[in-house]
Amino acid sequence: MNNQSMTTSTNAVLTCANVSKHYGDGALQVNVLRTINMSINSGERVAIVGASGSGKSTLLNILGGLDVPDSGEVTVAGEVLSRMSADARGFLRNRKLGFVYQFHHLLPEFTALENVCMPLLIGGESKAQSQEKSTQMLQRVGLGHRLHHKPSELSGGERQRVAIARALVTSPACVLMDEPTGNLDTHSADSIQQLMLELNQSIGTSFVVVTHDLRLAAKMDRTLTLADGVLV
Ligand code: ADP
Ligand code: MG
Repeated sequence: MNNQSMTTSTNAVLTCANVSKHYGDGALQVNVLRTINMSINSGERVAIVGASGSGKSTLLNILGGLDVPDSGEVTVAGEVLSRMSADARGFLRNRKLGFVYQFHHLLPEFTALENVCMPLLIGGESKAQSQEKSTQMLQRVGLGHRLHHKPSELSGGERQRVAIARALVTSPACVLMDEPTGNLDTHSADSIQQLMLELNQSIGTSFVVVTHDLRLAAKMDRTLTLADGVLV
């Protein structure tokens, strides 16, 4: 795949062209990503699998603009991240992307509702509007009865539902998930998987999911395997 075909592809919400990343120097240098090329289409669900330490989280962080590659380009909704100012990149990330991590990363001092409101408030929406949208999203993920609970008062599965609600409340083009069910029991993991598929279909958001759960990977449209710094 060349740059031309990816930047002109109208359906792609996220592309990555010739991305490389290393850590360390000299004898200790690790080339985590060598030449990564991928393109995620609108509404598409893609799993990324690979051994522990193969660079899955590094890749996801680069795709989300949380980390920068040594070389290569990442495009989000048609905009090249490396050509943007830090502010513009932050704005694009807030508008177009959502993030879900293995450990929910919710703010402990805030309620479920307040946590879900956060990206909307950061994006400049009013408090009333943010609360209305967040309440609806929490109802959609089955937590309408837990709006005012704090993370410590929720189960692991419930926290992950709050994290998913927070990732989706801005109606992003693409949600990036790093081991979203990795920390959950089978029952909670199944229910989170089900929820992800429902939301993908009803909202049309693309999902890029890093997982070692092959059952979850099998439910995606495509599975990419990261090995020796390349996707196969
Ligand atoms: P995965 O998510 O597939 O388990 P990671 O992307 O977390 O893999 O890490 C890939 C490799 O890069 C590992 O060998 C890891 O030790 C190394 N690595 C990750 N982050 C850093 C860092 N900040 N500094 C040095 N090495 C790192
Ligand atoms: Mg990881």
